[in-house]
Amino acid sequence: MVENLDELSFDIPDGVLDEIQQNIENIIHTFDIPEENKLEVIKQINFMYSRTKYLSMTDELTGLANRRSFDNSYEKEFLRAQRYKNKLTLVMFDIDHFKQVNDTYGHQCGDFVLKQVANAALQTFRKTDTVYRFGGEEFIVILTETDIHQAVIPLERFRKTVAALGLDYQGESVNVTVSIGACQLTDEIQTKEQFIEITDKALYEAKNSGRNKTVLV
Ligand code: GH3
Ligand code: MG
Ligand code: MG
Repeated sequence: MVENLDELSFDIPDGVLDEIQQNIENIIHTFDIPEENKLEVIKQINFMYSRTKYLSMTDELTGLANRRSFDNSYEKEFLRAQRYKNKLTLVMFDIDHFKQVNDTYGHQCGDFVLKQVANAALQTFRKTDTVYRFGGEEFIVILTETDIHQAVIPLERFRKTVAALGLDYQGESVNVTVSIGACQLTDEIQTKEQFIEITDKALYEAKNSGRNKTVLV
């Protein structure tokens, strides 16, 4: 539950704000809301809007930012870094042999593992570095103001943390590892799609070279 709306940092385009304003005015008019209640109604509608927006950007299982949220932020971060020559590192990680976890201990256990890995990621990366659930058991981190050398330290820390989690699911001990691919934005990378593609290749290489590895490009 959202405790403090001030903590939400959505970029609401001006057009959408105008639309919300218009809708609020319509509601107030349609329901003939008394003058003394208008402020409260406006507050409630704004709260509902923020809450809906929050839910639409959040992955329900892990509480991480979701794919839609990634799509929303990634282009902005990419263009900003490209324009101002800021350091930017993109990270993809994926749980190793995760299908086996589901097959051996059940889907519920898989969900439990996903949550624990997501928590470990949240604890490892800085608040400014958003961790996104990109797909089933695949995640993305945008490391702003970070080059590949600076990225190694938290990435290796995270990889080792996951390997050492020693999870207990209903009395069963479950061990998982992650493979990590990371890529720093350079002049050679011209599009955001290319940036993802190269990062994905690094992850693929981490998988192919034995898993539980970090591959940097
Ligand atoms: P690799 O090491 O190559 O990544 O192997 P893998 O088994 O992790 O990869 P694969 O792509 O074969 O399997 C991914 C599995 O993740 C299959 C899918 O059922 C499972 N999965 C995806 N989303 C969820 C989820 O939300 N919950 C659970 N429990 N499982 C999920
Ligand atoms: Mg996997
Ligand atoms: Mg996968």
